[in-house]
Amino acid sequence: MPELPEVETIVRDLRPHVVGSRVEALVHLNPAVVRYPDPGDVAVGLEGRTVACLGRRGKFIQLWLDSKQELVVHLGMTGTLTLEAAAAPLRTHTHLRLGLDSGSELRYRDPRRFGRVLLGTESELEQAGVMPRLGVEPFAPDFASGLAAEVLRTSRRPVKAVLLDQSVIAGCGNIYADEACFLARVRPGRRAWRLSTSERRRLLAALPIVMAEAIERRGTSFSDYRDGFGAKGQAFESLFVYGRGGRACVRCRSTLRQVRIAGRTTVFCGRCQS
Ligand SMILES: [Zn+2]
Repeated sequence: MPELPEVETIVRDLRPHVVGSRVEALVHLNPAVVRYPDPGDVAVGLEGRTVACLGRRGKFIQLWLDSKQELVVHLGMTGTLTLEAAAAPLRTHTHLRLGLDSGSELRYRDPRRFGRVLLGTESELEQAGVMPRLGVEPFAPDFASGLAAEVLRTSRRPVKAVLLDQSVIAGCGNIYADEACFLARVRPGRRAWRLSTSERRRLLAALPIVMAEAIERRGTSFSDYRDGFGAKGQAFESLFVYGRGGRACVRCRSTLRQVRIAGRTTVFCGRCQS
């Protein structure tokens, strides 16, 4: 699943090519992926509008229009958002095609269709209850001292469950939760409130570090994630623990353990993490 570093890579790729472009036509839209508003109203809101800005909040891609409405895309488990030539062959499971005046198309594709598309002003989306309440961004200046620190200090849930909670930390998913726990030498199954102050500080310091490194490597690709031009990310080779259960710890060479925490596959080193 694309997490913050993957979504950020896509946004950075697309931004210079999309901002300032005019949406000439909604070439195709699968109504099933539209969460809000009525699918029939989406073309009216998009066609003829200029893209003013492209950004991200948590794992949500936000494409702001000159009408003050935003097109919000969540990639779910298997979604991709890519810029392609209008004449490029169409792949199956392409649910949205936006024709731009540059001659390119912005294409949203999602084989498993867990993703979603929204269109509206910030207040419209809030009133409709279709955007979840999102927590603090890991790159925010107050990340280590604000909401995330407070929830970790008091929550009886496992550390991993707190890290995955989008209403606490926006954009963290399974990959970077495990990576941050390894770097901080904290077991992901520990009860959050039992962490010492220094363990909690290490964990909050580790998350932006592992995410920044993944952005440098253009994100982690397993099966589906692709950047804004359809290429794979390169961070997989540099991961410490995620996807490496049963293999040797990069630090101490003991065998990495794989368990389920908060319903998710979790990998950690029983010797390096306590
Ligand atoms: Zn180890």
